[in-house]
Formats: sequence, structure tokens, C-alpha cells
Amino acid sequence: MTGRFAPSPTGELHLGNLRTAVVAWLSARADGRPFLVRMEDLDRVQARPEHEAAQLRDMTALGLDWDGDVVRQSERFHLYDAAIDQLAAAGSVYECFCSRREIRNDIEAASSAPHGPPGSYPGTCRDLSISARAERRASGRPPALRLRTDHGIYDFVDRLVGPQSGGVDDFVLRRNDGVPAYNLAVVVDDGLQGITDVVRGDDLLPSTPRHVMLQQMLGIETPSYLHIPLVFGANGERLAKSHGATTLGELRDADISSAAVMSWIGSSLKLAAPGEAVGVGDLVNRFDPAALPKDIAVAPDFVLRPEA
Ligand code: GLU
Repeated sequence: MTGRFAPSPTGELHLGNLRTAVVAWLSARADGRPFLVRMEDLDRVQARPEHEAAQLRDMTALGLDWDGDVVRQSERFHLYDAAIDQLAAAGSVYECFCSRREIRNDIEAASSAPHGPPGSYPGTCRDLSISARAERRASGRPPALRLRTDHGIYDFVDRLVGPQSGGVDDFVLRRNDGVPAYNLAVVVDDGLQGITDVVRGDDLLPSTPRHVMLQQMLGIETPSYLHIPLVFGANGERLAKSHGATTLGELRDADISSAAVMSWIGSSLKLAAPGEAVGVGDLVNRFDPAALPKDIAVAPDFVLRPEA
């Protein structure tokens, strides 16, 4: 049994990400299990080594440790390519020449709602004739690769919110700039790294049926999932820079210590009393995934600017 935290190193971790990291760590360590860190740095424009270093430094400052070397998705393209080859050999991959704008227009023009999560691909390139495909290839626009799905409903049990089910669409496996897509890489990596215990933000809940389907297509066992509600500002929006000091560094500059942040994380998870001084080590013995709060967390006062 192995857990993991898989941040995208596109900036510093804010309080919401740190809170999710703490739950991921507790979920593994409470049972004395391995815990891995994987950098999801597929987007080489936004992902930077300095963000990775800052994220690891801040995890360490909160007392989180991990086993083995940090794995980087940017170094594993060959593994995602191999998975695409496996899917292509089964006839489950097709070229898509659509631009974002074309997809948006097709969604708006469609008479019936798509089967998958919001923004699902309407299937424009799924069954192109040979001549239509040749014409699009000749236009010079490189294609993305999409998964040919069965438009089925996929089920899984979330350890916090219980049984879930959702539709899937023909999602992208490889972008048209050659970069593997998150939805593919996350499934391949969780499989190859032997992850049995996925803890992540609940913004990814609608994507999980896609992951379950892809696991079945690739012969990967579905891990257990625990989706953590995000942290929101008092204005009802997801925690963001505009709310004030949200990273450990910014908070330190505002005289808020890592210990105070840890105390808030502990109490917001209902694992500590408000204001109680706790370290992650103290929370290990109190951790019970079923007792975690199911609602969004509101950021503490020390984060929020008066106007936010
Ligand atoms: N890299 C994703 C993020 O930072 C998380 C992916 C996952 O945990 O599955 O939002």
C-alpha cells in the first residue's frame, strides 16, 4: 500500500495545496505506509525547478517527509508514449484536429448534452472519413491524440464522499504540441509507481471516472480515492493569490509561523482544537479519513485581506 502527493510545480503551494499534502501524508503514514512525491511538470512553460524546490522546502517545513527520489513527469514521456502505443494497438486512439474554439462552437451547437464532465469533447474528429482526415492532415495543423471511449458510466468509491459515478468523453492523450496529457500521465504513473492510495483536491472528482476507465483499458488496478474539499476565501471563491498571504513564505513575511499554519490545518481537518499547537506527528494517531470534514474549508483570518 503506497500513498502519494503529486503537485504541479507551477508556483508555490498555497494553504489549500498544503492542507491536501498533509492529508495525503497522514493517510499513508497513519498506517505506516510508503509516501511518494511526484512532480507533475508536464507543462514545461509553467513548471519550473525553482517552484519544485520551493514546494519541497515548504512540505519539509511542515514536517512532511517522503520515500525515495522525487519523480518528475517531464522525465517519463517514454512511459506515456508506450501507453498510447498500447491503446492505439487496441484501436482506441484517434487524431483530433480541432482547435479549442472549434470545440467550444461544436459544444454550443450540439443538440444533446455530452456524456462526460462539463466541457466534454463532442466527438467531431471521432469518425472522420479517410478523405476528411487527409484534408485536415494536409492543412499542416498537427493533430492531438484522443482516446476512443465507450461513453460509459464509471463508478468508484471515494473514502470521504462515498460512491460516485460519472460519464467519460474522448479526452486528449497527447496534446498537439506532443506533450502527454495529465489524464494519461496520472493513470500511467499511479499504476507504475504502485500507488494504492490517491489523495487529491476535489476539483479532480469529475475527472476520476476518466481515470477509472483508462485504468481498466490499460490493465491497471484502480487505487482508492480520497478527494479533499478545497479551501475557499471568505468571498466564496477558491483560495487564490488575490485573497492575501497564502503561501508559507508570504505568511512568514506577515509573521505567521509554519507552526501556526500547521495548527490551522489540524483544526480545519477537525484533528486538533482551534489554536492547539500540533505537528503532523501528533495528527498521525488521530487520523480517521471517515471523520474528515466534507465541506469546503474557509481560509483563516490571518490569510484574508480585509477587502477579500
Ligand atoms: N497535479 C495535480 C494538481 O496539482 C494533482 C493531480 C493528482 O493528484 O492526481 O492539481
